[in-house]
Amino acid sequence: MNELLQFRPTKAIIDLSAIQYNIENLRKHLQSNVEVIAVVKANAYGHGDVQVAKAALEAGATMFAVATPEEALHLRASIEKTPIMILGAVPVNFAPYAAKANITLTVFSSEWVNEVTLMSKEFNAPLKVHIKVDSGMGRIGVRTEKELKAVYDAITMANNIEVDGIFTHFATADEEDTEQYDHQLEVFKELVASLPVKPRLVHAANTAASLVKEGVQFDAVRFGISMYGLAPSTFVEKHLPYELHPALALESELVHVKKIAKGDTVSYGGTYVAQQDEWIGTVPIGYADGVIRGLSGQEVLIDGSRAPIIGRICMDQCMIRLPRKMAVGEKVVLIGKQQQDEIQIQEWADRLDTIVYEIPCMLSQRVPRIYR
Ligand SMILES: *Cc1c(COP(=O)(O)O)cnc(C)c1O
Repeated sequence: MNELLQFRPTKAIIDLSAIQYNIENLRKHLQSNVEVIAVVKANAYGHGDVQVAKAALEAGATMFAVATPEEALHLRASIEKTPIMILGAVPVNFAPYAAKANITLTVFSSEWVNEVTLMSKEFNAPLKVHIKVDSGMGRIGVRTEKELKAVYDAITMANNIEVDGIFTHFATADEEDTEQYDHQLEVFKELVASLPVKPRLVHAANTAASLVKEGVQFDAVRFGISMYGLAPSTFVEKHLPYELHPALALESELVHVKKIAKGDTVSYGGTYVAQQDEWIGTVPIGYADGVIRGLSGQEVLIDGSRAPIIGRICMDQCMIRLPRKMAVGEKVVLIGKQQQDEIQIQEWADRLDTIVYEIPCMLSQRVPRIYR
């Protein structure tokens, strides 16, 4: 959206220097030869794929990871050269587009490779693939040496497909208990060792493993949630090797202020009933923006105080109980810092009984992202 044509005061402010700070510190923490794959799937966890990718590139990331063909093509339209890999399963008919646009695909089935081989003569450049090992996540990937060999041999037999990497994904790297994690790492190492040639890029670590585990960096790490300044879990948060800087703030303004009397109700269903005379402010943000109804009761920051969202959250607006009379236009911080106080994404996640990952992904397209 054209920034000049934003009239509604609701916006997400993305601090790209925080993203760069988080990557630069990760790089100091990693061994010097380890590459950083910046995970920018889901529109960079809601932060904006192209802007985040460009900032990550400047901070030293050497590859991007997305989830779908559409995300890869969207990013490729703005990022000319840097390799982009798709972490998820990809339909066979995308392979020619991937070869043409230098998009690296995830493979784990020899049938898939055989079907793509039939079209590979037409590729104008070799198709790069990373083989996915399911070492215990139970999602996608080859699970045995035999399956790995079948995929690997099928690729070797094809002319225009090359194995650029091999990777796996941990289910429990962010937890204190290491039993499953240790087992997954062992399975992965064994499968990698069974290959006749080590691929260029062996990678396993997500954010949690890259920050708190040893001996798992291999050639690259896939850095997602903490690039955005959020810890993957409370366990990892306690063991962070450096402080993270959150990149996203969510702000709006009061568009209406009124005094209501004891017994008056607010919003759909009249579920909120004033216990005394109260000042109520209306904020132009609602569940269609990602401020879902479960956030009723959540506080916002206004002029250095906390004010609760009251009554049912509407599609486009919600109401807050003000500590005193305030002016229309007063700034409202839903996520982020104001004066001495801060509302972290974790606070929303706790209220909604979910993980921090879900919160920025939930902010809809209607909320303009403003970059700083
Ligand atoms: C999303 C994803 C990541 C990034 O995970 P974080 O916990 O955000 O670092 C890494 N690898 C794969 C395969 C993923 O799907």
